Amino acid sequence: MKQFFGLLLLLLTQTVFGQDLSDLWDQYDKYKEPMLKDRFFKHADLLPLIQKQKKSDLFKVETAGSSAQGRSIFQLTAGRGKIKILLWSQMHGDETTATRALFDLFNFLKADDQYNQLRKELLDRLELHFIPLLNPDGAEVFKRRNAFDIDINRDARMLVSPEARLLMDVAKKVKPDFGFNLHDQSTLYTAGPTKNTATISFLDPAYNYAKDMNAVRKKARQVILLMNNVLQQHMPDKVAKYNDDYDPRCFGDTFQGMGISTILIESGGYSGDLEKEYIRKLNFYALLSALNGIAHQSYLKEDIAAYEKIPENNRSLYNVLIRNVKITKSGNSFVTNLGINHSQIKDADYRGVSFQGSIEELGDVERVFGYDEADASILDYTPGKLKTLTKKEWNALTAADELELIRAGYLFVKWSDGKSPIGPVKKRMLNLSNRTAVSGEAGLNQPANFLLNKQGKPLYAVINGFLLKLDQPVKVLHNTFGY
Ligand SMILES: [Zn+2]
Repeated sequence: MKQFFGLLLLLLTQTVFGQDLSDLWDQYDKYKEPMLKDRFFKHADLLPLIQKQKKSDLFKVETAGSSAQGRSIFQLTAGRGKIKILLWSQMHGDETTATRALFDLFNFLKADDQYNQLRKELLDRLELHFIPLLNPDGAEVFKRRNAFDIDINRDARMLVSPEARLLMDVAKKVKPDFGFNLHDQSTLYTAGPTKNTATISFLDPAYNYAKDMNAVRKKARQVILLMNNVLQQHMPDKVAKYNDDYDPRCFGDTFQGMGISTILIESGGYSGDLEKEYIRKLNFYALLSALNGIAHQSYLKEDIAAYEKIPENNRSLYNVLIRNVKITKSGNSFVTNLGINHSQIKDADYRGVSFQGSIEELGDVERVFGYDEADASILDYTPGKLKTLTKKEWNALTAADELELIRAGYLFVKWSDGKSPIGPVKKRMLNLSNRTAVSGEAGLNQPANFLLNKQGKPLYAVINGFLLKLDQPVKVLHNTFGY
C-alpha cells in the first residue's frame, strides 16, 4: 500500500512539473476561502480578506480608486514575469461567483505545498493584476449597475462612471497581454438548443463590426479552447459561447481593440447549485488552467477552428416545465405546456433573496426544457384549496402537517383571526392568502400554484413555482408566498 502511495506521489509530482493540473481539481477545498460562503457579500466583508493578502509576502495591494459612493477598489499584483494579465470581477454588482473564485486563487497562490513548483513557474513567467469587486456600490444592494445606475460594462467609451474610468486607467497603465472579464449570466441559458445548462459561457469579443479575427483575438480564442477542454472533463456539454456581435460600449470589445487579448467568462446555472459554489470551483480551475497554459504557452497548440463546435448560448430553460397539461380557460379546455420561473425578491438587508414563482409561458415549447419537469399527460390540473386556520394553528403546523394538507389538496391557508403577511413566507410548505377564494385558472404571469392529480390524488404539487413530487421524500421549500 505504501509503495502504491509512493508511486502515486511520484506521478502527481510529475504532473505538476508538466502542465496537467487534473489532480488539482480534488485539492480545491484546501484553497477555498471559507469567509465567502454564498452569493451575498458586500465590500465590508471583503476588507479583512484584502488585509489578509496585504500581510502576505506575495501580493502588492493598492487602492486603485474609489466607487461613486466612495468605497475603495483594490488592485492586487503578484508575479515578476514578462506576460501581463489583468483579471477583474463583479463589474456587475450582483455577479459574485468569480470574486469568490479569485479569493480562492489568492489562497492557492500563497499556499506552501506540493504545487510550489507550479506557483514558482506562474510567478516567474506572469505578472498578475487582479481587481476583485469593481462595483462595490452595486454589491451593497445586490444590483447589476453602479450607484449612478450606469451599467459599467456599457461605459467603456463614455467612461462616466468612476469604476469604468478606474478600469480603463489600470488597463492603460499595466498594458496587459491578456484580460479576463468575469461575470455571471442568467441561469436559464442552455448550451445550444439542448437541456444542458450553459454553466460556463465564453466569449472572445470582436474588436470591429465585421467581427474579424486578428492575432490578439486569436490568442483569446485559443485560451478559451484550453479552458473548454479542461471544463469538459468535469461537466461535459455544459460550456457555451456568447454571441460575438461587436459592442464598443463593452470593455471586452474595447480592450480587444486596444491589443489586449480579452476573454469574457460568464458563470451560468447548474442544477442544484443555487449559490453557484460548484461553478465557483469551475471558475477557479478554469482560471488556473488558463494561467498555466499562458505561462507555458501551451494554449498556442489550440486550433481555433474548434471554437465553431462550442454551442451557442440559448435561452431555452425554465425553472419548472409542465408538459402536456390540460387546462381550462373561459370554459374552453386545451392541452398545453406551462413554463414557470422563479423571480428573485431581495431581502431588506440585501443578504439573501426569496423567490416568486409565476407562469411565464403557456404554449408550444419546442426544444425547451426545465430544471425540473413533469409530464401531465395522464394527470389532472387541479387548483389548490384554501384552508382556514387561526394564526395560532398556522404557527403550530409542522412540515409533516403541511404536507398532509397538500396531499389533501390544500395549497393556501387563510387566517380566520387576522390579516396574514403579503410576500415571501420562509421555510414553509403552504402559501398564505387573505382572499376568501383562490383563482383556479392557469394564466400568463400569474402565480404558479396548482396540483397535478392522478385518479383524484395529488401526485405533484406546484407551490409558489416549486415542483414537489409527492410520492417521494419532500424537502421544505425555500419559500412560499403570501397573497
Ligand atoms: Zn455581467
